[in-house]
Amino acid sequence: YDDRDGVIWMDGKLVDWREANVHILTHAMHYASSVFEGERAYNGKIFESRRHSERLLASGRMLDVEIPWTVDEIEAAKYEVMKANGLSDAYVRAVAWRGSGEDMGVSSAKNPVRLAVAAWGWGNYYGDAKFKGAKLDISKWKRPSPETIPVHAKAAGLYMICTMSKHTAEAKGCSDSLFMDYRGYVAEATGANIFFVKDGEVHTPTPDCFLNGITRQTVIGMLQDRQIKVHERHIMPEELESFEQCWLTGTAAEVTPVGQIGDYNFEVGAMARDISNAYEALVRA
Ligand code: PMP
Repeated sequence: YDDRDGVIWMDGKLVDWREANVHILTHAMHYASSVFEGERAYNGKIFESRRHSERLLASGRMLDVEIPWTVDEIEAAKYEVMKANGLSDAYVRAVAWRGSGEDMGVSSAKNPVRLAVAAWGWGNYYGDAKFKGAKLDISKWKRPSPETIPVHAKAAGLYMICTMSKHTAEAKGCSDSLFMDYRGYVAEATGANIFFVKDGEVHTPTPDCFLNGITRQTVIGMLQDRQIKVHERHIMPEELESFEQCWLTGTAAEVTPVGQIGDYNFEVGAMARDISNAYEALVRA
C-alpha cells in the first residue's frame, strides 16, 4: 500500500502518498501506542462520520494517547483527504500514534502524539463471501478480559491476535476467524461483530470485552424497527449448532452472511439477506 499515487493527511498537511513515512524509533511501532478508525464513505458521505471521530478520540484517551485534534478538525481532515484523492466511495483510515521523540522507553509521555488520515477504494471485505456466505475458522486465541487491556478501544495492540488468527484461517481456506472470550463465550471475528438467528429472533454476544461496533448498533436498530426481537447475551460455543442463520457486521465487512463456522453450517437465509441489503440502502441513503 505504500507505493502508489495520492496524498495522505499527516499532522495537518497533505503529503505525497510515498512520502508519508515515520521514523523507525516511533514509540507506537515498539509498544503499540496506537489507535485507529476504519470508516466508509458512500456517495461522498462518510457513514456515521462524527461517531467514528469521537470513538478515535475516546480510544486515544483510553490508551493515554491524547490526540491533539478536535472532532471538527478530524472531520475536516477526512473530507480534505477524500477530495484531494478524488474519492467518493472510499475506505477511510484515521490513525493516531505516539511518535518518536525524547524518549525511547516504555514511558514516553513527552513524545508527540501524531495523527494521519488516508483514504482509498476498497470493495467487499470478504469478496464473494458477501453473497455466498463466509466460512469462519475458530481461533485458538481468546478475547481478553477488560481487566487485562482496554477492550473497548480500537487499539492496534488488540489486533495482534487478530492477524495471527486470520492467517491461520486463510491457510485453511476460511475468510475469517471467530474468537471466544476469556470466559469461553462467543465474542466476535477479527474485525467484525457477529449475529445469529433462531426461530425468527436474533442473538448477539454482549459487547462486554470487545468493540461494540457502530455497524452492530446500526443493525440492532434496524432489527428493532422491524419488530424483530434481539437478545444481547452471553452465547456458549455449543449453541452454534442450534442457530439457523449468522452474519457479521463491521464498517469494512458491512453485513456479510456466514455459511460456516468450524463444523457448523448456516443457511444464507432471508433475514441475513434482508439486513445486508437494507444496510446497503441505509448507508447510501
Ligand atoms: N470488532 C473489531 C475487532 C473490529 O475491528 C471492528 C471494525 N472496526 C468491529 C468489531 C466492528 O466495528 P464497526 O462496526 O464500528 O466498524
